[in-house]
Amino acid sequence: MKVFNTMTRRKEEFIPLTEGEVKMYVCGPTVYNFFHIGNARTFVVFDTVRRYFEYRGYKVRFIQNFTDIDDKMIKRANEENITVKELGDRFIKEYYQDADNLNIERATVNPRATEYIGEIISFVKDLVDKGYAYETNGDVYFNTKKFNDYGKLSGQNLEELQAGARIDIDERKKDPMDFAIWKSQKPGEPAWESPWGMGRPGWHIECSCMAYKLLGETIDIHAGGSDLAFPHHENEIAQSEARTGKSFAKYWMHSAFVNVNNQKMSKSLNNFFTAREILEKYEPDVIRLFMLSGHYRTQINFSVELLESTKSALDRLYNAISILENLLGEVKIEQLTDDEKQYIKDLASYKEKYIEKMDDDFNTADAISTIFDLVRDINTNLGVDSSKELVNYSLNLIRELGSPLGILQKSTKGSLEEEIEKLIEERQQARKNKDWALSDKIRDDLKARGIVLEDTPQGVRWKKA
Ligand code: AMP
Ligand code: ZN
Repeated sequence: MKVFNTMTRRKEEFIPLTEGEVKMYVCGPTVYNFFHIGNARTFVVFDTVRRYFEYRGYKVRFIQNFTDIDDKMIKRANEENITVKELGDRFIKEYYQDADNLNIERATVNPRATEYIGEIISFVKDLVDKGYAYETNGDVYFNTKKFNDYGKLSGQNLEELQAGARIDIDERKKDPMDFAIWKSQKPGEPAWESPWGMGRPGWHIECSCMAYKLLGETIDIHAGGSDLAFPHHENEIAQSEARTGKSFAKYWMHSAFVNVNNQKMSKSLNNFFTAREILEKYEPDVIRLFMLSGHYRTQINFSVELLESTKSALDRLYNAISILENLLGEVKIEQLTDDEKQYIKDLASYKEKYIEKMDDDFNTADAISTIFDLVRDINTNLGVDSSKELVNYSLNLIRELGSPLGILQKSTKGSLEEEIEKLIEERQQARKNKDWALSDKIRDDLKARGIVLEDTPQGVRWKKA
């Protein structure tokens, strides 16, 4: 398998640290609000990465944190007149509700920053003791000049980064690029006791600390949205590698942003949709198919029109599943015929192509096209004369290729009956309206699908021809 590594800016062969295992850390949400569709893309993308590794036989240890203490948390809790802890509890619950509804698998562990304060303090202390961090009036800063590799993820050195960044001059820092790893308490803020007085952790340190605690010194994959590469991930590397002297993560993966009507979307710009709003109108399969129909390293544009067209595309896939599920009750031959033994090899070639695409840095866009090609082939070649074995094989194959993407797992059983009942009702309405053309069309369309309508004194009955 090949993975694009932000660190080297190249696709690299994926070689795990331990054979057959993937240790993966994804930066999770700050739990002060419902998550938006941009966050949702990042979560769906890395859920898919994880599922695909599992599909390829790896055991994945998947950690995604909750940032439950930072400036945004404190501000929002004050506005709502609740504690930061209460705010975190509430939006962690809401996160699970939306993530479950998006069919995102639960992480192996979802650590909360505030549950690791003791470990974070030891981490900070270690960095101070080693001379990589210094204290000024209760704040502790990481000394970026001390860490020679600072900037390696961004591919820029300290001076170049400094020139490109907007930095507030801060008297307390030795260098403008230094960043806080421990913040002294301000009035009204939650705080914990530490060797530097009452305070709270900076944001970057929590991920370094929790990745270390839950996955070890070196991990396989560290991931997050592209906005996190600098400074968040750069800072995580500095802290972790300064402490352990070992490489922090082998592969760095970043997913691109979701724009709305071609504009940048962010919580602060107020042009965002929450995942929950979209889940009220669309099935999770539609949202996931939409999120995955572009490569994860290219930006996608969100619009209602695009979701609508994704919905129609998905209907085509589920129609095929429905037809196959219904064929199972109709076919007469049990086992593969000789011709079908040949044909099944054609079908298997779609799976090979799908794996080839997904192995190539999770090219979900091309993998999805392959599923559509497979379904077109099945629609053309399977029917009542097919064997049960072939129908089953085809059905399972569609579902199998959908599963790493978290789609196409629903059963449509029973829906044929419901659909026919609905069409009969529509036809009755058309007849009442004396719309004979429509009523005939509905009857003829059903006939073409092998469904015959009979008008009886008790009402309309239907049977399979
Ligand atoms: P936050 O709650 O803002 O800290 O973000 C949680 C995760 O979502 C991080 O991995 C971010 O990089 C990612 N993210 C934030 N905004 C977007 C966006 N518009 N598109 C894609 N991912 C995003
Ligand atoms: Zn992080």
